[in-house]
Amino acid sequence: MLFDIRTLLVAVALANLFCAGARLLLWRMHPTIPGLGRWALAGGAGALALVLILFYGIQYWSPLLSLAQLIVVIGLVLAWDGFRYFIGTPPLSRLALVVITAILLTWVVATQLQDSIQLRVLGNAIIVAALSALIARELLTAPKQISAAMRATGWVYGINAVVFLIRIFATDLSAQPTGPLNPNGFAAFMLLWWLCMTIAVTLGMVLMTAERLQADLDKQANRDPLTGVLNRRSFSLMAEKALVQSRRYDKPLSILMMDLDRFKQINDRLGHSAGDILLCRFAAIAGQVLRGEDVFCRFGGEEFVALLPNASAELAQVAAERLRTTFAADSAKTETLENDLPLSPTVSIGIAELEQDEDIETLIRRADKALYQAKKKGRNCCHLAEGIEKSPKKTKKQYLSVP
Ligand code: GH3
Ligand code: MG
Ligand code: MG
Repeated sequence: MLFDIRTLLVAVALANLFCAGARLLLWRMHPTIPGLGRWALAGGAGALALVLILFYGIQYWSPLLSLAQLIVVIGLVLAWDGFRYFIGTPPLSRLALVVITAILLTWVVATQLQDSIQLRVLGNAIIVAALSALIARELLTAPKQISAAMRATGWVYGINAVVFLIRIFATDLSAQPTGPLNPNGFAAFMLLWWLCMTIAVTLGMVLMTAERLQADLDKQANRDPLTGVLNRRSFSLMAEKALVQSRRYDKPLSILMMDLDRFKQINDRLGHSAGDILLCRFAAIAGQVLRGEDVFCRFGGEEFVALLPNASAELAQVAAERLRTTFAADSAKTETLENDLPLSPTVSIGIAELEQDEDIETLIRRADKALYQAKKKGRNCCHLAEGIEKSPKKTKKQYLSVP
């Protein structure tokens, strides 16, 4: 198949311009998501580089080509830095930027002194392959959970690295170029590949942004914004699921209803923000004390609830007591409140184990009654709901082994 290189250049430049526009729009629509600005600039750099190559096709003035290649690399570095911002890894270090700039400048000077199309192509392929491999690594080994779009974009950059690696080995420095814009016939293929890359990467960026927005929405719908733990809505869903599992496998299920003691006084004396700190501290301690399979939620205000699958009333009591004592003895709690606490914050806990044919609402009501009893007993204590058939003894090891 024969392509007219200049026509192809115009088509790829236009596609790049549209993709740059799409990225710009993405950034304007979601300015708070980090990295999107750099992606837009990277898109603009790609489009500008292609326009310069187009001019070179008319003028054959070699600095234009050097400048275009320089801008391509700057675009790649911007995209790389954008991905790092997006993922949450620190931006590229000054040392990395100095090394990249030094390599680039040396290369530009070398290509200007030795004006060989083949040498240019080789240097370009080496730099693009290396940067693409680094971006692929960044996306495929991100420390936070890798999303599907992130993985796909990582693979696109990985394939780009392979394509440019092939380009390196396919470059014959001794061959006579067939024309300044078509050294040994590879130019058309590489331009088509540039088109595919731009579209694939832009799509990847759009999908990564969509996934981020979806994750944020899910978080807003399911999590308490102050403490970050699950909210009441997700508790209901999880509780129904836990109930079905408990029935199906004939396993015990217990819940803890927790209420911070005299919280109003703490708010009144130390202010609402001190109260907020205390709520977060309690949630953090519960996260440490409870098992991974337990479901801990903010029920509302200073009330929390925990679902303990596979835990009998006895085991739940051990967990509740451990949580109560850990919170009462927590030194960081008073440190965060600047040691100015007139009273030591504590928690009261009501415990209930699921009975046969009981539904979640009734179980919660029983745990709530038990909590009321704990408050009546003088607070800072746990109380087991009445009417529970004692289930066989379970090992306490699970809770006792938690640090
Ligand atoms: P008791 O020991 O009987 O539970 O007494 P209490 O003071 O904890 O209970 P009460 O229900 O009288 O007060 C609960 C307080 O919790 C009142 C409310 O202002 C406060 N509160 C609810 N939500 C928040 C919140 O998000 N942040 C802060 N700082 N305070 C909250
Ligand atoms: Mg309350
Ligand atoms: Mg309270």
